[in-house]
Amino acid sequence: MKTLSIIIPCYNEENVVDICYAKLCPVLESLDMECRILFVNDGSVDGTKAKLTQLSEQDNRITVINFSRNFGQQAAVTAGIHHCKSDFAIIMDADMQDPPALIPKLIEKQIQENANVVYGVRRTRLGESRFKVWSSRSFYRTLNRLSNDKFPLDSGDFRLIDRTIMNHFNSFKEREKYVRGLISWVGFKQVPLDYERDARIHGESKYSLKKMLSFGVNALTYFSHKPLHIAMSLGFVAVIVGIIMALWSIFGKFFGYTDAESGWTSIIITIIFFGGVQLLTIGVLGRYIGTLFNEVKERPEYIIEDILN
Ligand code: UDP
Ligand code: MG
Repeated sequence: MKTLSIIIPCYNEENVVDICYAKLCPVLESLDMECRILFVNDGSVDGTKAKLTQLSEQDNRITVINFSRNFGQQAAVTAGIHHCKSDFAIIMDADMQDPPALIPKLIEKQIQENANVVYGVRRTRLGESRFKVWSSRSFYRTLNRLSNDKFPLDSGDFRLIDRTIMNHFNSFKEREKYVRGLISWVGFKQVPLDYERDARIHGESKYSLKKMLSFGVNALTYFSHKPLHIAMSLGFVAVIVGIIMALWSIFGKFFGYTDAESGWTSIIITIIFFGGVQLLTIGVLGRYIGTLFNEVKERPEYIIEDILN
């Protein structure tokens, strides 16, 4: 019999984990597989840890990995994959936005197509703000435009992966992982499964604007060098414009068609504009250097306090 682990990152989800477990049980029992649930408690500061401990005592199919603090969802999913020993893993959110009823469909599709990855593609997103839907849609499109690797659009971490993918994923050394991008980057046979993303069953999104931004910028810096090329092109354009303007004013002086004195506005605008361009491009450069710095420090991606079961 094949084995399956459900990897679920949780951050302050005390009102959600019980419902999540209750909804998962009948689905897992209906499968012809030996199933486990791997909760990764990402340093929750509410009652999540107590709830998960209780669940793991009552059901020995449950493993709980407790982080020493909040390391973020991507680190939690990474830890889940690192510790998974099954033939297959399904990554899903605790808040039931990815419906457990889809689990049999993911497995069915895997068997039908003999795929290594079956990734969920969100056709509709219920209960999410317009800003969230818009920013997420534009993020996937921008990333694809800027990166040489092409990623499936509108696909979150909800997916089924097999042992081959997990083994390759586990060999990646980078500290800050954009998990869905890396899985797609591994290749092999990856097939989509369309679904409707439900609303969160309780509470609010644990992704603050700050976390969302850092997630997006990380994905961009790790998968694209184009921001650096764009910075260089901007510099190039500025130099050309500068040369043209210099020639224009020198000739103007000789042939008397410019009035050099009345140049205050244009000088100030030029200084501010190109000052801004310089700071911006230094910022882009700085971002890559910061990323490099984080990588060479070789700190662990997460720290585990304890593992139950
Ligand atoms: N999550 C986490 N660490 C964090 C933020 C979120 O483990 O720092 C978990 C969260 O508990 C949930 C999943 O990641 O199971 C997705 O988060 P959320 O539902 O808040 O994000 P959204 O669906 O709004 O993008
Ligand atoms: Mg959610």
